[in-house]
Amino acid sequence: MTGQPRWFVIRNNTPAAATLAFMSLIDLLQGDPREHLGFDPDELKAKYLAERDRRIRPDGNDQYTEVVDEFARYDEDPYTERIERDPVDDEVQVVVVGGGFGGLLIGGRLKEAGFTDVRVIEKGGDFGGTWYWNRYPGAMCDVESYCYLPMLEELNYIPKHKYSFAPEIMEHSKAIARHFELYDNALLQTGVTEMRWDDEIERWIISTDRGDTVRARYVAMANGPLSRPKLPGIPGIADFTGHTFHTSRWDYDYTGGTNEGNLTGLADKRVAIIGTGATAVQCIPHLGASAEHLYVFQRTPSSVDVRNNRETDLDELGDLLPGWQQRRMDNFNVLVSGGDQDEDLVSDGWTDIFRNLTGIAAKTASRQLGRRLTSREKGKLMELSDYRKMNQVRHRVDEIVEDQATADALKPWYRQFCKRPCFHDDYLPTFNRPNVDLIDTAGRGVKRITSTGIVVENADGTETEYGVDCIVFATGFEVGTSYTRRAGYDIIGRNGETLSERWADGMRTMHGLTAHGFPNCFFLGFTQTAVTVNVPHALNEQAKHVRYILEQARDRGAEVIEVTAEAEQAWIDEMKDKARLGARFYAECTPGYYNNEGKPGDNPVGFFAGAYGAGPIRFFRLLDEWRENGRLEGLDLK
Ligand code: NDP
Repeated sequence: MTGQPRWFVIRNNTPAAATLAFMSLIDLLQGDPREHLGFDPDELKAKYLAERDRRIRPDGNDQYTEVVDEFARYDEDPYTERIERDPVDDEVQVVVVGGGFGGLLIGGRLKEAGFTDVRVIEKGGDFGGTWYWNRYPGAMCDVESYCYLPMLEELNYIPKHKYSFAPEIMEHSKAIARHFELYDNALLQTGVTEMRWDDEIERWIISTDRGDTVRARYVAMANGPLSRPKLPGIPGIADFTGHTFHTSRWDYDYTGGTNEGNLTGLADKRVAIIGTGATAVQCIPHLGASAEHLYVFQRTPSSVDVRNNRETDLDELGDLLPGWQQRRMDNFNVLVSGGDQDEDLVSDGWTDIFRNLTGIAAKTASRQLGRRLTSREKGKLMELSDYRKMNQVRHRVDEIVEDQATADALKPWYRQFCKRPCFHDDYLPTFNRPNVDLIDTAGRGVKRITSTGIVVENADGTETEYGVDCIVFATGFEVGTSYTRRAGYDIIGRNGETLSERWADGMRTMHGLTAHGFPNCFFLGFTQTAVTVNVPHALNEQAKHVRYILEQARDRGAEVIEVTAEAEQAWIDEMKDKARLGARFYAECTPGYYNNEGKPGDNPVGFFAGAYGAGPIRFFRLLDEWRENGRLEGLDLK
């Protein structure tokens, strides 16, 4: 290792080293950690900060291009031919906006509770939400399928693999819709354009881009947090005359192939992909295998750890007694929220990260020390464990990628949760293919797009243009813009007040689910609620809660439910009080949507602005207790 900076030195890099030895936790806290780590944490931190600094841009979240006007085609549905139909003018009991997991869960839970007249309005041509849109080759879920796919017990279904591929998840979504007969009343290929509360008739009036007028007593918003594709604000992006598309609108007519790859249409094509986030990590191996030449344009590398996907082994799932999925979800949720469990049922990269970084590591150290750790010690332990974990991730790059310069460029220099951790076994080996080039932009991003290619600036200030036939934008989704802009419509509540006005300085809800001035309206997703790795778990808890409220209203003969201004304010105060989701942590992170592109705290509608700081365990318990006491605290019913 002569000549290498000290942070490259890793003493203990076997997979088993992922679990830090108990004694070493104490060693890390006492004395000079360099002796035990084999690297200098201060030096490493300085490296992280330097890498962050060169990526910070003054335009932050404004750097992206919205998919409107000349870019509107990037938002169009390439999967389902548009079916013309007459406008609908009628009334239903409940309108659910969005047919993804949130919509399926709330729709299904309400059907279970005897609300028969539920209508889902969905922009896509079918149910599935993110799994309808994200059909790119290699698309798969990176959370264990037995926890992630909703309602497995209700549908008596066991996924085929530990991590499901997108087509299976889409099929499962459709199966849920069929099971709860949600197709019967659905309006697919339909975008809501406005939702207006009519105080006279105590109904919502929903208008759509198909000219529909639907009246509904209740509305539930399940629009999804990452649903609107975004484009990079690269000069010249509109000048390119070759083929382009966004990963969430994959053009199989052009590429050929399927989710399993075999993209025969690319055999004679020079393909560029811009972006190396969680999506790109999954589709790059297929592009590399099929394209004549693939250029991967990278601004910031992802952290990519072992996937180890495998076919389902029923033995691994245990007894499958009633309630098995909820128990597995709860076990996973506790572990990935920093809690402790006797058994790690999922036992994968996610739980491994959390075992090392959060509560369990601290608890172990505290047992060994014979006293509680101070919060400073806990923070230090987490930071040092994080450095070790990321050293291991970086070491994995060296082990797999043959060309040293490419390997070095693929190493992520930030803490584990600055960006979404990725897990893949074919991503890094793709860079050993002779037809694949990593074009690392050293944090600067692509400089310019011309009519025939992509220009990057080299370290010496010169430029290189790469001629390509096709550009795939793996540049993610709108985050941190207003709720109503992402939803694509405004909600007009009591007294004509719009949700965009009401939430102009940040969301205002009780439990993330209801807002004062917007009676009979419920929000699912990432609105002042608990954020957890397994998003469908949170959506299910929200759906169960809304079901309970509507059941109570029905049983009590109430027509209108509205959160009081006081209860809403109390929840906002509670959110503020618990807003400890690491302001400093994210300030030190490389830019990304987790930290509002390097400006955490600057955006009242940023990704984590809607996250309940006390975490999902506490939040789910809070909802349980609220239901158990039966007082419907904070709600006015009439
Ligand atoms: P991301 O927002 O995570 O990634 C966008 C990528 O585009 C980044 O690599 C970004 O670089 C890059 N980029 C943006 N602008 C430029 C530019 N001007 N020049 C060069 N590169 C640029 O989007 P993804 O679609 O990858 O993922 C979004 C989310 O979807 C994930 O975080 C995850 O939550 C979810 N997802 C979940 C999966 C699952 O299995 N459950 C699978 C895939 C996605 P930089 O990092 O520098 O900003």
